[in-house]
Amino acid sequence: MATPKIRSKTSTSQKSNHAPERKAAPKPKRFKSAYSKAEMEEIFRRFSVQRPEPKGELEHVNPFTLVVAVALSAQATDAGVNKATRALFKVADTPEKMLALGEEGVTQYIKTIGLYRNKAKNVIALCRMLIDEFGSEVPRTREELIRLPGVGRKTANVVMSMAFGVPTLAVDTHVFRIANRLLMAPGKTPDEVEENLLKVIPDQYLFHAHHWLILHGRYCCKARKPECERCVIADLCRSPEKTVDVPAPLVELPQQLIGEPVE
Ligand code: SF4
Repeated sequence: MATPKIRSKTSTSQKSNHAPERKAAPKPKRFKSAYSKAEMEEIFRRFSVQRPEPKGELEHVNPFTLVVAVALSAQATDAGVNKATRALFKVADTPEKMLALGEEGVTQYIKTIGLYRNKAKNVIALCRMLIDEFGSEVPRTREELIRLPGVGRKTANVVMSMAFGVPTLAVDTHVFRIANRLLMAPGKTPDEVEENLLKVIPDQYLFHAHHWLILHGRYCCKARKPECERCVIADLCRSPEKTVDVPAPLVELPQQLIGEPVE
């Protein structure tokens, strides 16, 4: 007599009665900074000695003009934006006054800045939204800020930090370059770099970290050729591009250095 086949508990037919197996959630991406915690502390300690109160270089007179200036600065230099906005903000420092200028009026002030037509359109749309939805005030949260036309995550982070004192880390071209060049918080996109930098920058330095990194990138660790002989972290730096190992003297930099157009 043939032995009846006994179904295995894990037979295919039994499996098919179950809901399809869910794929495991992707593991969070891991990255490795080239620096220890103590080294990161030392790097930012030195930046803080060099520039105890680092400042942003975009001229503005209130949160509204700051948000406009940051939005205009995409793919433009701060010096170029300042040149245009000095006259613009004299006549339009509120959403209502800016809206009254109209798109064509704003264009006349900003046409020395790249992508000015699109930017003028966004500035007017931004003013409308501020008036209609936010009582003419610049909102304070990232979620609200990024709803404004022409305002992305980077602009929102700058505004939150500079206008409202919220510690954020906006990743612009300089911050992105330094995080990758120094192998500090490598990442393929600004968002990835932001996430990684937030993990390695010591908390007590986070508030000014954005400006320290920008100023270091603008005046010392320059895009085309880093000026390593002027660098206060040359001994700690692990960039394959560095040219000297001896750090520059650690002294507070003169204020007037900030604001000079360099690149
Ligand atoms: S040593 Fe050179 S490459 Fe390294 S941070 Fe300084 S300027 Fe940049």
